[in-house]
Amino acid sequence: MLTIGLTGGIGAGKSTVADLLVDHGAVLVDADLIAREVVAPGGPAYQPLIDRFGFGIVEAGGRLDRARIAELVFGHPEALADLNAITHPAIGVEMIGRKDRYAGTDEIVVLDIPLLKEVHREMLDLAAVVVVDTPTDLALHRLVEFRHMPEADARARIESQPDRRARLAGADLIVDNSGDEAHLRGEVERVWEALVELRGQGDARAGVPHPEG
Ligand code: ATP
Repeated sequence: MLTIGLTGGIGAGKSTVADLLVDHGAVLVDADLIAREVVAPGGPAYQPLIDRFGFGIVEAGGRLDRARIAELVFGHPEALADLNAITHPAIGVEMIGRKDRYAGTDEIVVLDIPLLKEVHREMLDLAAVVVVDTPTDLALHRLVEFRHMPEADARARIESQPDRRARLAGADLIVDNSGDEAHLRGEVERVWEALVELRGQGDARAGVPHPEG
């Protein structure tokens, strides 16, 4: 198994790249999806979030109102830190569990992590970090044009994230998503080949006989 982290700013094209990697044969573990599961009724973050933010975040029917939680923490660093302290460990545990199902196989497992940090490398045993890089103005344009996000919201969300340069500094491989979809497919093909080679190097290392053995 080769485990890689896939990250990029909001609207950079992570989901699109993840889908293309799956087309090449990768297995995808999606942090966004898991983030929804851990806050669902019965999930490990459900009750702790109600204890912290009150019953005002519970919708009729019992599900949590994620938009309401987002409103409560936006512009309130302490509340955001509490939200993260409740949800991130639960998401991390679940991601490790999902990827470990492929231990011992030769799958390339892609962990799609929007806010990937340096600590994740060790925590999730990442062989490489792939960053999807898109000029900020273009990501903004795509969010407004294709995802119908109000421009002010898209801008505020982009500005609340680490900047492009900081993200690129943590990259082992970069997918340039500044062109059209055909260009992106070519970029993903190139990165996929690099990952296959990396997996081969891991196999070769594992196959080297121990000097005494
Ligand atoms: P989020 O951070 O919100 O999860 P994301 O990084 O996963 O976003 P995507 O949803 O993959 O980004 O892409 C944002 C939008 O831009 C989508 O509508 C997608 O179809 C479009 N898009 C991505 N790459 C390209 C491209 N090269 N050309 C045109 N449209 C693109």
